[in-house]
Amino acid sequence: MNSSSFRDTNGDVWSVEREMIDVTMSLPYINPNWVGVDANGHEQRTGTYHFVVDTPGDDEWPDEGHYECDLCGAEVKPGLTTDCVRRFIPGLATYYLNGEPVHPDVIRARFPDANI
Ligand SMILES: [Zn+2]
Repeated sequence: MNSSSFRDTNGDVWSVEREMIDVTMSLPYINPNWVGVDANGHEQRTGTYHFVVDTPGDDEWPDEGHYECDLCGAEVKPGLTTDCVRRFIPGLATYYLNGEPVHPDVIRARFPDANI
């Protein structure tokens, strides 16, 4: 949980608490920084190959398939990576005025330049 607060010139205390969501991947995933070469010498990186479905998934299992070069269709095996440290992304926020929860519109009305 991230939180911050400040007191404005009227003495009101404005606060925000933001939930932090753990997005650490315990399984290997495609390394977004991987660069390789396919069998026909085409440089491969994120955006130069696409996923091809071999076996469609269902509600419980994802599609199974492989990756192919956008130019020639050669199979591409992107490099994988895993997270070695926990990663978090910002989740929902709750806003407070003098300790009482308020709708984000209250914040926007008081601070039109706020980026919420
Ligand atoms: Zn290719």
